Amino acid sequence: MNLYRDEGIVLRTHKLGEADRIVTVLTRRTGKVRGVAKGVRRTKSRFGARLEPFTHVDVQLHTGRTLDVIAQVETIHPYGEALVADYPRYTAGVAMLETADRLIMAEKEPALRQFLLLVGGLRTLGSGEHEARLVLDAYFLRSLAVAGYAPALEACARCRATSVRAFAIVAGGAVCGACRPPGAAVPAGETLALMAALLKGDWPAADSSESRHRNECSGLVAAYLQWHLEHGIRSLRHVEREHAERELAT
Ligand SMILES: [Zn+2]
Repeated sequence: MNLYRDEGIVLRTHKLGEADRIVTVLTRRTGKVRGVAKGVRRTKSRFGARLEPFTHVDVQLHTGRTLDVIAQVETIHPYGEALVADYPRYTAGVAMLETADRLIMAEKEPALRQFLLLVGGLRTLGSGEHEARLVLDAYFLRSLAVAGYAPALEACARCRATSVRAFAIVAGGAVCGACRPPGAAVPAGETLALMAALLKGDWPAADSSESRHRNECSGLVAAYLQWHLEHGIRSLRHVEREHAERELAT
């Protein structure tokens, strides 16, 4: 059996059989990995508590035929501790973990930028420096950008004209008056500027935004993310089917 070691953020866990759990971890070097933690649901487990979502862990796994097996876990930083006492921060954190899990579809494909974004996002969220929904929207926009779905914000998604008037998810973001498809949202200019500031990491600009523009920004970002995740999930099903067919053929 091959043993490998990495550090990562626990994205989620689910039960397996009577005493085990399957733990999904976004690691620094290996990408997304799933491993079986044997016996963790027994009270005397050596490392059950270290394998909770949000925890930054140093983990060693044995490569298995179907699933890898977790051999050793150490806590690097329990990011969940700063979040559990604050409901808006906690729910924002949960949404970050879910989004990372869904945006990074392939297992064991290095996703260093996504890992760094997630660690940075959880750290910022826990620090309380910025409003939770701004941290979450910044994370959504940047993780979408890393996945190749950055929305156009400062120039028309279709013709590159620099005077944008509307936001059209299907067109890929902000559009000019001439390219605006029917039914496109018409957000305030300040809202598009806030989205651009969050995407770039311009916190002074983001922190000075008004509440109504933050609300509008959150609505647009959530809709944009949802649209891309649904398309992503559809392509994932396709990948899984191809994979299964290939295995049957061999
Ligand atoms: Zn245009």
